[in-house]
Amino acid sequence: MTEPHPTIQPQPGILEIALYHGGEGALPGHNRVLKLSSNENPFGASPATVEAYRRASDSLHLYPDTGHVALRAAIARAHGLEAERIICGAGSDEIITFLCQTYAGPGLEVIHTEHGFGMYRISALAAGATPVEVPERERHTDVDAILAACTERTALVFIANPNNPTGTMIPEREVARLAEGVPPQALLVLDGAYAEFVEGFDGHAALVDARDNTVMTRTFSKIHGLGGLRIGWGYGPAHVIEALNRVRGPFNLSTAAQAAAAAAVLDIAYADYCRAENARNRAWLAAALERAGVPSDPSEANFILARFRDQEEAEAVDRALRDRGILVRRMAGYKLPAALRITVGDAAACAAVAEAIDGFVRARA
Ligand SMILES: *Cc1c(COP(=O)(O)O)cnc(C)c1O
Repeated sequence: MTEPHPTIQPQPGILEIALYHGGEGALPGHNRVLKLSSNENPFGASPATVEAYRRASDSLHLYPDTGHVALRAAIARAHGLEAERIICGAGSDEIITFLCQTYAGPGLEVIHTEHGFGMYRISALAAGATPVEVPERERHTDVDAILAACTERTALVFIANPNNPTGTMIPEREVARLAEGVPPQALLVLDGAYAEFVEGFDGHAALVDARDNTVMTRTFSKIHGLGGLRIGWGYGPAHVIEALNRVRGPFNLSTAAQAAAAAAVLDIAYADYCRAENARNRAWLAAALERAGVPSDPSEANFILARFRDQEEAEAVDRALRDRGILVRRMAGYKLPAALRITVGDAAACAAVAEAIDGFVRARA
């Protein structure tokens, strides 16, 4: 770290931000890497989505629609929501940033859970607010612990359901109890990055509709396979969406991103296919790990949090996987040092990772 400048200094909180590290994508000495470190869709974006993106190349000289009208209409149609209460961003990361910029600030607190997504803390600090970490119960969101941590300074409460990196989910009635119990000045944010992987789940949209203190964030990066294009969205009460739109840059989403996302969200058959493949491969991988003596919580998302004896063993497994060109995610930064998060790839990827871990465990025994 460079020395602080004598007179020019960032706002309080900024230098406390630890840089976010994405999942690695390359391994020295390996031409072909199996990347299971960022919960990406192993099948890529749908053909209709890629086609819409290509068509957008005809209009690269034109500024994009600042209101995202066609995209919001497509999302509203696909999910049965009100288009006026949808906001789109460069990934749901940008929606999280808007929320912190709009509602948090110096002297205010932003609650996130023990193993919660790293961007909540980063965005809270960037807004000058104080992040407050709340314990989980055996890798599950603990509503009572969150309610106990709320104060008159609480501005935002972030939970992801299903959660990343645990993959666990809490029931709707628990989320409703949280929404009911947070203090009157606090906004509850339900991060639904993995909602589409849960059959028949609306990402708590009905709960959002029923309340004036609850917002949902969603992404095109996971089931829709568009992590590289950066598109996410939020849905909430009109008073929240109207406020967020004031801090949103007018040209935050490119024409190509808007076109691709609109095609993706309307390609229901493709999302259904990806959800079914994920469920099947996830069950297979969890069972294979279990047989190898590696436990995991039942996951509702597109990854499995595999638990090892201790940090040393988790790191040794990670090295063994790397030797075979397989990249997964170490979890020490998420206070889970003995765990590795493994994205559910296609059937061949699941077989490769299971075989490598099984081989490691046998060699150890
Ligand atoms: C992947 C992920 C997101 C999505 O981030 P984008 O900015 O939309 O790519 C949001 N929240 C959680 C918990 C995630 O795991």
